[in-house]
Amino acid sequence: MNHLDPHNRTWLNFVNGVWLPSDECIDVHNPATGKKIASVAVAGGNHVDMAVAAARDCVTSGALTKCRPVLRAEMLARIAREIRNRAEEGAYLGCIESGKPIEAARREFEEAARYFDYYGGMADKIEGSAIPLGQRYLDYTIREPYGISAQIVPWNFAPSICARSLAPALAAGNAVIVKSPELAPLAIIVLFEAIERAGVPKGAVNLLCGLGRTAGAALVAHKDVDQIVFTGSVATGVAIMKAASERSVPCVMELGGKSAGIVFPDANLERVVESVKAGTFFNAGQICSALSRLLVHTSVYEAVIGKVAEMAGSLEVGDGLAGADLGPVISEDQLEKIEGFCQRAKSAGARLITGGQRVSGKDGWFMEPTVFADVDPNMEIAQEEVFGPVLCIMKFEDEDQAYQLANGTRFGLVAGVFTQKLDIALSAPPRLSAGQVFVNEWFAGGIETPFGGNKMSGHGREKGQEAIYSYVRTKNVGILLAP
Ligand code: NAD
Repeated sequence: MNHLDPHNRTWLNFVNGVWLPSDECIDVHNPATGKKIASVAVAGGNHVDMAVAAARDCVTSGALTKCRPVLRAEMLARIAREIRNRAEEGAYLGCIESGKPIEAARREFEEAARYFDYYGGMADKIEGSAIPLGQRYLDYTIREPYGISAQIVPWNFAPSICARSLAPALAAGNAVIVKSPELAPLAIIVLFEAIERAGVPKGAVNLLCGLGRTAGAALVAHKDVDQIVFTGSVATGVAIMKAASERSVPCVMELGGKSAGIVFPDANLERVVESVKAGTFFNAGQICSALSRLLVHTSVYEAVIGKVAEMAGSLEVGDGLAGADLGPVISEDQLEKIEGFCQRAKSAGARLITGGQRVSGKDGWFMEPTVFADVDPNMEIAQEEVFGPVLCIMKFEDEDQAYQLANGTRFGLVAGVFTQKLDIALSAPPRLSAGQVFVNEWFAGGIETPFGGNKMSGHGREKGQEAIYSYVRTKNVGILLAP
């Protein structure tokens, strides 16, 4: 018997320091086999109310804020250690619930630990400033936590995105309620078990495994939530912002993307191909910041298509546990959606270079690595987020046209340029509407680098030192010293 087999244990919600069952369950499937791997207790409206009440008690008690901040720093360091103690299990579950290669799941679980180390290091450095108003006044700012931070997490990188928001929120002294994704809730439960073991004040962290339309919607509409952090699709983000606007609740929104890489004539084409491999096909393309549009100068257009097609054809598609390059997509629905995009792109006249359909003869939900060329910027495939292993290649004649194409969608998450010329590399970032710009390497950066979107890709920043300021608000204190 596999001691990591998720069938061998129960999967519950964590509220006020207690693991809570529920009358209802949702099934979790392994996308590589299509088979059910676990049943998770579903949080309902009553669980949401309990979690908010517990978080409020924690906030009111000052358990996270009356202490010296160094104690929160130590708490986050303990959490990081406990997460690493569960690394094998967390990575295994992350792999079988999402389909990603086991090595990628290992890196992801380690990344979750790193967020706690990183923001633990900031917990005692969230400083205000003194503002000179002349000798008769003392004026200074204080950074205060919001109170209750409600955080909604998607399935594509569930444990690391969970840690990405939870760690800075906790470091800043907020109580947190996480709503985990229904398609991939298991690795996050292991993360919370590690947090429990590390020792945190009651109600400081709470986990609800629930459906978006019930638990998620009830959480974001709850009258006692002070901040909402949402990572997910534009449609859900817009619905949440509408609910939040009713009570003027501040939001951090990390939404979708349709990001472009621009290949200039002098680009190192081997680097371009490596970037497409990582940017388009890593995690089967289910990445908000995926490289989904490649804009290529006419002089190297056919050469790039040839090299990218060769690389895409060499990728092994299969079970992430067996270490394939490209795992399955998350669900049958998602697979159908991706195939639909590809069908419509073909009908609209895009040139299919490779892929375009599901992998036949497999039980799981596998999509062929897909490349389209001669894509018109107005086509659906050039404008909408596919969230699968699909690349659109488009041609440009000059720099102005390249930036116009790159900025020509409703999204603005990340962008990239491939050039060896310093003047082009340095003049590109101001011309690109995106929260991150990569030069010569897609995903150049890490947990240390601020991340977030422009336009419909969202607002607010996660990652890096900058993100800590997404979890505090500034209060100014002005004192007349000589009345
Ligand atoms: P989704 O919007 O369907 O779901 C995201 C989360 O929202 C899930 O936990 C879901 O249960 C919850 N949810 C659904 N309806 C809700 C509602 N009415 N109220 C409250 N919560 C609700 O997105 P997904 O399919 O899980 O994730 C894929 C999307 O996420 C893509 O668009 C991708 O680009 C985006 N994403 C963005 C980032 C980023 O950092 N910008 C990172 C990862 C994923």
